[in-house]
Amino acid sequence: MRIVIFGPPGSGKGTYASRLEKRLGIAHISTGDLVREEIRNQTPLGKTIEKYSSSGTLVPDKIITQILKKRLASELSRGFILEGYPRTVGQAKELKKIANIDVVVNLNVPDNVIVKRLSARLQCKNCGAIYNEITMKPKVAGKCDKCGGELFKRVDDQPEVIRERLKVYQEASEPVVDYYRSKNLLKDIVNDDPNVDPEKVVDQIMKAI
Ligand code: AMP
Repeated sequence: MRIVIFGPPGSGKGTYASRLEKRLGIAHISTGDLVREEIRNQTPLGKTIEKYSSSGTLVPDKIITQILKKRLASELSRGFILEGYPRTVGQAKELKKIANIDVVVNLNVPDNVIVKRLSARLQCKNCGAIYNEITMKPKVAGKCDKCGGELFKRVDDQPEVIRERLKVYQEASEPVVDYYRSKNLLKDIVNDDPNVDPEKVVDQIMKAI
């Protein structure tokens, strides 16, 4: 199955995608993680895209599509859960050329829940696992439960960058919802409880897809 998980920053895309990966046995591909990996390794591409990522603006379609294409190639036959792409209608059209998508899960989460979530988010430097200082605490403070890696707060999870990311989402990404709705591929998932058990949302997604 080829799934896109879509929604504003902080809607839980990464959390749900990694749990779906386990349930469905297909790869979770996050373009945000691919971007951070390029930056961490300070590749020539990483150096070019760092300024976009740290300010919360979008990496140009051409560059991000090139990064995705490379990663997606090995998963085309097995299927995948794609998170963080497409974020513009242009990218949705590019994706159609690379792979046919079976379903798009659209997460609907109010802005106040998003800001609360993102300001408390922690991520593992090593394996990318996501935690929350309030709702999904690690067993040992500052350490990843899965691999023992160090947990960090993303530079783009500061209030002013969060606001910019939400603005970018409304302008560039909401038209993507209309694009997929018109193609009858969209499944809406509504979640307005900041303390919801992620497994319950994953159950909801499994029923919808
Ligand atoms: P994320 O972890 O999905 O919030 O992505 C972090 C950052 O990576 C974004 O703020 C963008 O700068 C960049 N990025 C990730 N995916 C895309 C995409 N599909 N198009 C453009 N920029 C992206």
